[in-house]
Amino acid sequence: LSDPAVREPLMARLKNLENIHWRAEPTFPGDTPGEIAPITMPHDLSAVVGTRRDATAEEVDDAFARAARIQPGWDALGGERRALLLEEAADLFEAHTDEFLSLCQREAGKTLLDAVLELREAVDFLRYYAQGARNQFGAPTILPGPTGEENSLSLHGRGVFATISPWNFPLAIFTGMAAAALAAGNAVIAKPAEQTPLIAALAVKLCHEAGIPPEALQLLPGAGQVGQLITANPLLAGVAFTGSTETAQAINRTLAGRDGPIATLIAETGGQNAMIVDSSALPEQVVRDVLASAFQSAGQRCSALRVLYLQDDIADAMLAMIRGGFEALNIGDPASLATDVGPVIDPDAQARLERHVARCLASDRKVTRLPLPPGVEAGCFVAPTIVEIGSIRDLSREHFGPVLHVARFKASQLEQVIEDINASGYGLTLGLHSRIAATRRFVQARARVGNFYVNRNQIGAVVESQPFGGEGLSGTGPKAGGPHYLARFATERVMT
Ligand code: ADP
Repeated sequence: LSDPAVREPLMARLKNLENIHWRAEPTFPGDTPGEIAPITMPHDLSAVVGTRRDATAEEVDDAFARAARIQPGWDALGGERRALLLEEAADLFEAHTDEFLSLCQREAGKTLLDAVLELREAVDFLRYYAQGARNQFGAPTILPGPTGEENSLSLHGRGVFATISPWNFPLAIFTGMAAAALAAGNAVIAKPAEQTPLIAALAVKLCHEAGIPPEALQLLPGAGQVGQLITANPLLAGVAFTGSTETAQAINRTLAGRDGPIATLIAETGGQNAMIVDSSALPEQVVRDVLASAFQSAGQRCSALRVLYLQDDIADAMLAMIRGGFEALNIGDPASLATDVGPVIDPDAQARLERHVARCLASDRKVTRLPLPPGVEAGCFVAPTIVEIGSIRDLSREHFGPVLHVARFKASQLEQVIEDINASGYGLTLGLHSRIAATRRFVQARARVGNFYVNRNQIGAVVESQPFGGEGLSGTGPKAGGPHYLARFATERVMT
């Protein structure tokens, strides 16, 4: 993007797509249309990008019936044929790069860099799970057995799987969960977040164009009520969910209260992610990694840094350097290449974050905020903020946005710091900046987190080489983009 020969034509093409009015509707529209909601741009709430028509209760039932009918055939197709279809979808996603980038910017308020990374991740998920389908869902594994017996084990789809996804990675997470469920031989009912159904609708349309049967992958837009109808359906065999811890707990309760197959839940939820910086760390690297981890994507990443722990002897100097970089952040229109921090997703998120900052100010914590630039009043912008706190124990919940909390610790308190981080109950990401190998081993041995990042930023994951996911309040595992993920979408059958 820094090369004008790449950047200029891309920006011109994206501009051409701005007047398209997108629609997200259930894959099989029924006779009684549900509520139609406008989808507005997070950075300009007066601009309508498209509309969402919510699935009705009848459509949910209908979708399950169709999915249940096709699923045995989809499973019987075998891993190799499903892999070819997912790979064809990956090619089509790449061929529609402009549409996805435009929608990621306009519907989700993503900067161009974030939008490019997001599309890349979605395509990687499709190809990685296609390869998994090929490797794990091909010929049965022959098991050792007594002479004369032929014993084998094969993996199959569990049935109808629901995927319930969030708005912060409206393409990558939506596609990743659906691709995994499909690769494993399930029919999929996909419910995107209410804020970002248009990107999901384009993704589903391209999957159908690739040859994935429409009954095997059905889109059901809507808010939490539609998610509730889906998770209560008696034909449901499993749910892959990414979103807040509270919603995962609500889904657990719905699953517990229903009749039907014992449904499995794969949940990827929130985090109270910390980074520990000791006095051996390289300051320039710390500044770059802290700013990216806390403020890229306006802090709206599951992995994003929330609590920075600075060793007391370097804390003042380090904080002064971080503030220097912080003051240089550009806030504004995600369509501008100069923008570092775009909007948060909607007015509710904006209000929640503002309430948190107001409480911090009222309790006399030291708060540093960037001024918002003029002209952003029509959007959901939250000024990037640094709040000084005593410890992670001062925070009772995750604050999903561009707010970084900073605490100090003495070298002798390192073990206590890790205990406090563990005591939050979350276990998603932890960062460490230290050049001392013994410190790294000490922290690694004690921290209960799914992803431990050493001397780098805390920005998410690369499919396959950095599988991602947490434990405790942060999720059930296994890790998305990792070697054990597909097996959780499958059931094992043994022939003896
Ligand atoms: P966030 O706080 O990041 O917006 P949520 O957990 O509220 O995340 O939402 C994640 C997804 O879960 C969305 O698709 C949302 O519509 C869905 N959802 C919300 N409430 C429920 C529920 N009770 N049952 C099923 N899905 C739900």
